[in-house]
Amino acid sequence: MAAMIRTIRGDIDPAGLGPCDAHEHLFLVTPAQPGEEYSDVSKAIDEAETLRAAGGRALVDWTPIGLGRDLNGLRAVSEATGLHIVAATGVHRDVHYAADDTLRSESEDTLADRFVGDLDRCGIIKIGAGYHTITPFEAKGFTAAAATHGRVGAPVCVHTEHGTMGLAIVQRLRELGVPPERVILAHVDRNPDAGEHAETAAAGAWLQLDGPGRTKYWPDSTILSLIADLAERGYADRLLLGGDTGRRSMLRSYGGGPGLDYVFAHFKPRLERELGRELSERIFVANPAQAFAF
Ligand SMILES: [Zn+2]
Repeated sequence: MAAMIRTIRGDIDPAGLGPCDAHEHLFLVTPAQPGEEYSDVSKAIDEAETLRAAGGRALVDWTPIGLGRDLNGLRAVSEATGLHIVAATGVHRDVHYAADDTLRSESEDTLADRFVGDLDRCGIIKIGAGYHTITPFEAKGFTAAAATHGRVGAPVCVHTEHGTMGLAIVQRLRELGVPPERVILAHVDRNPDAGEHAETAAAGAWLQLDGPGRTKYWPDSTILSLIADLAERGYADRLLLGGDTGRRSMLRSYGGGPGLDYVFAHFKPRLERELGRELSERIFVANPAQAFAF
């Protein structure tokens, strides 16, 4: 069977994905970010239009079960904008669920069945880890995601907290039967340590950098340096880039900024100027077509 990418509007040939923002959230409601929730479909369309106008042709939405995920909304945004949108099943890290959330008491098997059921419309399996820790609920997510991967084959996409535990996460998933080449680690640039991430990439995993525009943490130049360093070490073919616009205050349609198009309108052109078009094409087109296919 030929590899495909499963979008919210059906399976596509990976070669047709186009320039891809590898990490976004068009809708997000979580107790971990009070006051930052957003769920309006027409505002999501407005925001996604800006990404399209800046040259994006695809985005991967990492909002998992229970956090305001809106699969019909994602489909509506895709239909209105023409963007390929890949949706997520799976669960986030512990802090994003209330103490009495019923998901917490579900068995690994029940969770896996739920994930598998979702994968007729979703194209990635999301899980989360904490800061240098994995809680029992998160561990259950890992086991359920691995079982789901074994049944369906979709990539396993992991939230890392401040970019910690990358290699440990990859090894844990490998022990559960998920090959490192099918694992995508998000937020690694929160810990801009090329040496550490090079080890994780050497194991075969994908490294996703998704912090452009978060100037209060670090300037974009730090991320560009990390990309240059990892490329120099031979890992350009393991890199993905996303905007992770996961707060209401980051969206222009809600009066915030820098907006969903920041990565394509500002960061990508700068990457092309400073590090070259070839590397940019690889990171935004060739790599996502491979990483998200199954
Ligand atoms: Zn995210």
